[in-house]
Amino acid sequence: MKSDKIWLSSPHMGGGEQKYVQEAFDTNWIAPLGPNVSGFEQDLERYLGGQCHVAALSSGTAALHLALLVLGVQAGDEVICQSMTFSASANPIVYLGATPVFIDSETTTWNLCPIALENAIQDRIRLGKKPKAIVAVHLYGVPFQVEAIQAISKKYEIPIIEDSAEALGSSYQQQKCGTIGDIGILSFNGNKIITTSGGGALVTKDPKIKEKVVFLATQARDQAPHYQHSEIGYNYRMSNVCAGIGRGQMEVLENHVRARRAMHAFYLDIFKNIKGVTVFQATSESYANYWLSAIIVEESKTNGITREQLRLLFEKENIESRPLWKPMHLQPVFANCPYYGTQIAESLFEKGLCMPSGSNLTDRERERIQKVVADLFLNNSNELQQ
Ligand SMILES: *Cc1c(COP(=O)(O)O)cnc(C)c1O
Repeated sequence: MKSDKIWLSSPHMGGGEQKYVQEAFDTNWIAPLGPNVSGFEQDLERYLGGQCHVAALSSGTAALHLALLVLGVQAGDEVICQSMTFSASANPIVYLGATPVFIDSETTTWNLCPIALENAIQDRIRLGKKPKAIVAVHLYGVPFQVEAIQAISKKYEIPIIEDSAEALGSSYQQQKCGTIGDIGILSFNGNKIITTSGGGALVTKDPKIKEKVVFLATQARDQAPHYQHSEIGYNYRMSNVCAGIGRGQMEVLENHVRARRAMHAFYLDIFKNIKGVTVFQATSESYANYWLSAIIVEESKTNGITREQLRLLFEKENIESRPLWKPMHLQPVFANCPYYGTQIAESLFEKGLCMPSGSNLTDRERERIQKVVADLFLNNSNELQQ
């Protein structure tokens, strides 16, 4: 009989969610507004600290779309975007008729390479088109090189949209991810560190931007007794039922971060004596939520064992693992977009694997993972390395 599936990252309910959802039913607030929506926003504002304002939306993608809109991105514009990311970082640029300009990763945080970023900005300016925004991602919850990227953003006066979809609970020098960019976005999709089944949020320091975002997210209705519109609106607000799940999830967010970090420590431990495999780690100025733990398998140092062999062996044992995000500049749909950099992201994609990282994995499940790793790297090669 096959063992139960071990997922890469599955929803993990804390138990308090149903109380808030029940409240929504009891009070008949089954709508894209209500006390859970504002309650969830306040929970997030408190958690993120500082003077931030949060707008709860239907998805992280919707939050990115509205972030670009309020920064004035229009058809024909160009927007810089990290190449190594999920497609949702780039798609909203195209929704607006703008063009993404993709940037390579650096090898430490796997995020925006400051050198390639500055080259790109200078080159686009030379070509007569200054990019309107920089979409910077904290990949797998590991913060990007904040100081270097902020310095470039300041120097060229191009705002940062901080795609913190994977990084709720991470921070850079004590500052919470989501509050670092000019505008931040979060995701509460089913696979993220906390979930509202589906949902997202936009984070801003400017209450006027929040007001504008909520206005656009609720069909851009002007003040009038009838329905009147002087702008194109969107139906992007979070529902009060989903926000109820979010309020319950906020009660367990810190536990989830702890559990994900424990999974990361588990991988550091099981791979510590395996030559040619490195576990992706944040630098000392960062605190990562390790939404997903990822490894790099260097075939030239593992006696020929590849990332793909490990992935297939996991699959055989009903354990989900997945190659890193395929860089956007290698995606057929973005083939014609400009790209700046070398082959860092491409090489990470070829050698990297995301490991099961859920906050709800059991000791028994960790043993199953460890056994696959030991069978392949230790028993197979008949060599206890190091
Ligand atoms: C999940 C994710 C998004 C999109 O969030 P949704 O809520 O699924 O729309 C955007 N960017 C990154 C990096 C993500 O991982």
